[in-house]
Order: sequence, then structure tokens, then C-alpha cells
Amino acid sequence: MDLAKRVQSLTPSSTLAITAKAKQLKAEGHDVIALGAGEPDFNTPEHILEAAKEAMDKGLTKYTPSGGIPELKQAIIDKFKKDQKLMYNASEIIVTIGAKHALYTLFQVLLNRGDEVIVPAPYWVSYPEQIKLAEGNPIMIEGKEDNEFKITPEQIRSVITDRTKAIILNSPSNPTGVIYTREELDSIGEVCLEHGLLIVSDEIYEKLVYTNQPHVSIAEISDALKEQTIIINGVSKSHSMTGWRIGYAAGSEKLIKAMTNLASHSTSNPTSIAQYGALAAYRTDQTKVEEMKQAFAKRLKALYNLIIDIPGVECVEPQGAFYLFPNVKKAAEMNGYATVDDWVKALLEEEKVALVPGSGFGAPENVRFSYATSLDQLEEAAKRIKRFVMNHQ
Ligand code: PLP
Repeated sequence: MDLAKRVQSLTPSSTLAITAKAKQLKAEGHDVIALGAGEPDFNTPEHILEAAKEAMDKGLTKYTPSGGIPELKQAIIDKFKKDQKLMYNASEIIVTIGAKHALYTLFQVLLNRGDEVIVPAPYWVSYPEQIKLAEGNPIMIEGKEDNEFKITPEQIRSVITDRTKAIILNSPSNPTGVIYTREELDSIGEVCLEHGLLIVSDEIYEKLVYTNQPHVSIAEISDALKEQTIIINGVSKSHSMTGWRIGYAAGSEKLIKAMTNLASHSTSNPTSIAQYGALAAYRTDQTKVEEMKQAFAKRLKALYNLIIDIPGVECVEPQGAFYLFPNVKKAAEMNGYATVDDWVKALLEEEKVALVPGSGFGAPENVRFSYATSLDQLEEAAKRIKRFVMNHQ
């Protein structure tokens, strides 16, 4: 039996693969430091757990509307209003099974065979695969490292064809941690408006911004841009709720209606009790979110200084999310490895430090460090990596 063509070239997510390998080594008794994680290491705040337990006790364990419970949609609407002064109606919001599934559903309802979506590299690993699963073509443009990995309006213009339907923006970015300024978003937005491109704005790391400037959504810049944008967000990273699988999208009624219809035939609804947990996440004070952010900020500062001290390693300083994305090409060369992928493998085997190779993110000279782990572990990891680099010269 042959599998469907659409899944034949599908590869497992490289971030999940490295985490699995690190777990296996750990289970075998090795002292592994896993810096591959794409999730906060904090527990979900207590009051959110309580709300979900209460929902269970009250019997709120049945199907919900496909697009999410009205209370949660309203909490999301209120959040947009408060944080970005963005006004949405309930018909412009869908609650999904994580932000990942919001994106998956979006591409399914948006793309016909051969439609093109511009994907700035380095990119989150799932974007190209999801676009291909919807029979679209991901068109990569490279955010140059000497431009802080940011793409320019000229680069966008240079790849637009009559099949270009959308562009993905992810600020703060996974894997680079880089953030676009309002001015940069404005000029990118101008090209999108000129050519009628839908802007898919993945803002899942919105709450993890370490500059003095608040997060800017491209949709808040003008009414025209809001109309042409679909925002993707969720509680996974902000409230340390990755396993609960609650995300959402906010955009035009036409798109949201189609996505809701598709959800009604594919998933029915996001888990009822998880939705009540997410409701508590938004309806209670945000002290815990701020505390987690402060802890991340402290780790970033420490790890960044340790990383740039390693010979052959250069790093654009991140401003958000919980990743560093250094270029280690020189270190790999110095150590005698043909590719960064090989260097990463050897590092895991020899020093038991798990990093994610940048090749999966469209940046084969880089590696992703996640600092969603304790400061002690980060310091120990940096020490081991430095030892590895020095020992192999
Ligand atoms: N978008 C980006 C850029 C991510 O890094 C992730 C998670 O790693 C997601 C979306 C998906 O998040 P969720 O857990 O809500 O599906």
C-alpha cells in the first residue's frame, strides 16, 4: 500500500526529534542537558489548573462549539482590545488546538494547488510543511544575518508572482528571537497592501519581549493592514500551557468561518476543560506571565554572554522568545566537521548537550539554543560546549 503523495516527503519536526533523542540518552542514564525544548520549563500557574479542575467538576466535559466557547472568544476579544487596541467580533475569532492547528487549518482553507506563500528564513519548521500539505508552494526569502535575520520589502517584491497569496511574519521569531520594529512592519505592510497579500502574523511569543518597547502587531498599524492580516496566537508560550493545546486566530469573517467549518469536520472542538483553563489564563491577573518573562530575560542575558565567548561562535542578540540562534559554522570547521548538523550530533554524543541544528529552520550554519531551562543548566551547557570546541581544535 502506497501512502498519499502529500505525506511522502513529510519529515518529523526536527525540534521534536532532537528532544526525543535527548530523552532517550537521559533514560539510558546519561547526564544530558537538553536545550532543544520549544516550551517554557515552568509549571502552568496554579489558578489555571484550578479552573480546569473546576470545569471538570461542573461537568463541562462535553462538546463545545467548534470555534470555541463564547466566554473564551470574548476574553480573547478583550485581550486584543487591551493589548493592541484591536477590535474584533466573535465571528472573527476561532479557538483552535494550539496555534499550530490554527496555521494548519488556515492553509487548508486558503491555498489551492500551486499557490505561493512567502516564508522568511530562518523559519519555524512547520510552516513549509503545512503549506505543502495544503498543496501550496513555500517561497523562502532569506533574512540575512547581518540584517538581524530580517527580510526587507525589496526582497518580498522580488519574489511576488501572480500566484503569491500570503506571507508569514513571526515576530518575536522562533528560532532567532528577533523582533520587527513598527517602522519595519509598516514598510513590509505597504508591499503586502500593494499586492493584496494576506499577512499571516504568528505572534505566539508576543508576551516574551525583553526590550523597553511593547510588542507590535502589524494589524494595529492601520485599518487596511488589520483587514489584510490574520493573527495567530495562543496560551502555550505566554502561560506555559503547551500541553493544553489552546491557540486561536483572529482575522476576516470569511476566513474564520471557513476555518470553523473545517474544524467542525476534523476536530469538532478544542478540549473543553483546556478552554476553561485558557479562559482563566486571560481573565485573571498576569503576574505569573510577567514573572516567567523576567526569568527568561535574566537567562538570556547570562547565556548570550557565555555563548559569544566560545571561539568560532557568533550570535545576533535576540530581543524576544526563548531562543538564541548563533552561527557556529566557524566552530564546526575548526573542529573538523563538514556540516553544522554533524557538529551538533557529535556534541550530543560527546558532551551530552542537545541543540537543534539550524538546517531544519532554513539556516544550516546556525544552531538553536532554547533557554527554557535553569540558569545552572545553561551555564553548565556553555561550559561543555566551550570544552568541546577547544578539545577538537
Ligand atoms: N508558532 C511558532 C513560531 C512556534 O514556535 C510554535 C511552537 O513551537 C507554534 C506556533 C505553535 O504553538 P502551539 O503550541 O500553540 O501550537
